[in-house]
Amino acid sequence: GTLAGQWRFDNSYLQLPDVFYTCLNPVAVREPKLVLFNQSLADEIGLGFLGSDAAAVDYFAGNVVPPGAVAFAQAYAGHQFGGFNMLGDGRAVVLGEQITPEGKRVDIQLKGSGPTPYSRRGDGRAAMAPMLREYLISEAMHALGIPTTRSLAVVSTGEPVFRQTTQPGAVLTRVAASHLRVGTFQYAAAKGDVENLRALLMYAIRRHYPELEGADNPALALLQRVIDVQATLIVNWMRVGFIHGVMNTDNMTISGETIDYGPCAFMNRYDRETVFSSIDHQGRYAFGNQPGIAQWNLLRLAEALLPLIDDNEDRAIETVKETIGQYAELYTSRFEQMMLNKLGIERKLDETDEQLISDLLDWMTEAQVDYTNTFRELAQAELLLSPVYSSPKFKDWHAKWKARLDRQGESLSAVRDRMNRTNPAYIARNHLVEHALTQAEREMDLEPFNQLLSVLSNPYEHQDGKASYMDPGEHNPGYMTFCG
Ligand code: AMP
Ligand code: MG
Ligand code: MG
Repeated sequence: GTLAGQWRFDNSYLQLPDVFYTCLNPVAVREPKLVLFNQSLADEIGLGFLGSDAAAVDYFAGNVVPPGAVAFAQAYAGHQFGGFNMLGDGRAVVLGEQITPEGKRVDIQLKGSGPTPYSRRGDGRAAMAPMLREYLISEAMHALGIPTTRSLAVVSTGEPVFRQTTQPGAVLTRVAASHLRVGTFQYAAAKGDVENLRALLMYAIRRHYPELEGADNPALALLQRVIDVQATLIVNWMRVGFIHGVMNTDNMTISGETIDYGPCAFMNRYDRETVFSSIDHQGRYAFGNQPGIAQWNLLRLAEALLPLIDDNEDRAIETVKETIGQYAELYTSRFEQMMLNKLGIERKLDETDEQLISDLLDWMTEAQVDYTNTFRELAQAELLLSPVYSSPKFKDWHAKWKARLDRQGESLSAVRDRMNRTNPAYIARNHLVEHALTQAEREMDLEPFNQLLSVLSNPYEHQDGKASYMDPGEHNPGYMTFCG
């Protein structure tokens, strides 16, 4: 029902020591216009009534603060491309925690809402195209079944923002399980007050993992849990070819949701070295580096938690080393399981299954085939007509795969179903995203954007007449994405 719901704010974050935030309102914008509104998400979180509320645009612009909201910018730190900095919300405010009809607690955040004490040299604003990109990709990730922050609305501000060029300004309304990051813990640790760090720890546990509240060692328990949810998250990214692009520790959540869609993009041709971000000159955040970077980031979380893990520093370090080792094990076993599912295999039997995966990925790299389309084609023998599938190397692999499926003894349709549940048919193809954003931004024509969003909302199901959305576009090795 579009009329249902109400603002139902709580502000539990403000119970934390006040070094963790600065209360301030968003800065009003000149001429707000509603560009996008996510009715189904609004319904889900008890804000469906905004779909027919003329005041909605003023809330999403930051011109009016909703009843019950106490807005604040969060303080945090982070390793950015390996270098440590004290940061904070430089262009965002959290309005509060909406309590959903199901009793869930979600942050409602405005991104691009004006300068804050943490803005450093930034203008506190966001440009339209990057906010549309975040809306599209985060909603696509959600439809892919991957934990992520969501996007509730985009408004245009009627104000220009100055980047490489002058661009129209926008504000995105983001919905998140929370905005607690690895960098929030790094901030507390860097400030050097163990009691503040402990308060943050207990807050994070209460908010996300209340079952850990009675743990003998809450800091270790939280670390183990974040290792767990992040291992799962990265496996999901690797499954669909998602490249985050800025895996700085301030962009890694405690909840296990994907956050901060900046220069992210989906890989077309399978190549572990794929990088799209214009600022990632060393390839630090390349597709194939993501699992290792996640581990590096988790080690930064562990370091921040050290004083709470054991009073004896040497013992704390020993414990942490052991615990971080679990990440590699968890990641590897879940990655294998996921890749086997992509091949229609229910579960690993022996080492030959590992070989089956790595041989396929080696062939895919050499043959420069599209990651997404190849797995959908494998599921349908009649699609294996392309000349690329006639190479002896592929034929050899294919025979082994078929033999492995025979060992499983399932019907072809059961295998196919498993594959098509694991392998999306539709991902956000770079050329389609660029076209959609350009049309929306320059021509105020939202038709291509909404069409694309609609296809991406149902990514595993074949959609009649939508073959063009599977087209990777012309191979474009120089394709670059930018921060907004
Ligand atoms: P990101 O890597 O995009 O998550 O941003 C890193 C940091 O820079 C965060 O603290 C952001 O709040 C801040 N930041 C990014 N863009 C701006 C901007 N235009 N104005 C102020 N702060 C910004
Ligand atoms: Mg404060
Ligand atoms: Mg960020």
